[in-house]
Amino acid sequence: MKNLIAANWKLNPTNQKGAEDIFEQIKKSVKNTAEEVVVCPPFIFLPVLKGLALGAQNCFYEDTGAFTGEISPAMIKDLGVEYVIIGHSERRKYFGETDETVNKKIIKALAVGLKIIFCIGETEEERTAGKRNEVLQRQVQQGLKDVVDIDNISVAYEPVWAIGTGNNCGVAETKESIDFIRQFVKKDTRILYGGSVKSENSGDYIKEAGANGLLVGGASLNAEEFAKIVKSASIAV
Ligand code: PEP
Repeated sequence: MKNLIAANWKLNPTNQKGAEDIFEQIKKSVKNTAEEVVVCPPFIFLPVLKGLALGAQNCFYEDTGAFTGEISPAMIKDLGVEYVIIGHSERRKYFGETDETVNKKIIKALAVGLKIIFCIGETEEERTAGKRNEVLQRQVQQGLKDVVDIDNISVAYEPVWAIGTGNNCGVAETKESIDFIRQFVKKDTRILYGGSVKSENSGDYIKEAGANGLLVGGASLNAEEFAKIVKSASIAV
């Protein structure tokens, strides 16, 4: 199984030229990698970026209809996009996503043949209250409710307190979470780690924590740094 290294550009950059520049640099620097690399830019850049696998950062749970401002899995699939991130903590926090809407999105995205990066993770308060496993179990079970075939799903363990903070989760703690999540998915389901991944820590998640890939936010906007992260994942195996 190849490791999956996904770049989540979030709401960046502000223009198409900037997106094309970063994308071209990433493309060049990961050309010979054995890992699976996916770039997830804002929706608007998906049709113009070519030559590497792409993912959307979100989708809606209906294909068409009176849902102003939404983008459907069918539309994403039609562009030739392979992946979609679903349940990212920023969507849960700022856009009111719940386990129920995440589940509906997963079902719809799978139905059109998209591959999914399904994000779960505990907040700082939940971690401090000793509720990490309870939260992970609830998110994974409710997110995958009525999903019969999870072959096209990778789960991204992203502790909310580690995202965009520079405070990445320790390797031992990440391993505990990955081992815990593993019991609710298949033996060969990819479980990624995400949360302040940098080239100095990236290899450890693959080598020591048992992650099958990485979801990289901030660091993926720097092509050179992202290439080092991809390389560290190959070396670590
Ligand atoms: C993310 O956006 O999924 C993420 C992990 O962000 P960062 O790497 O910036 O913490």
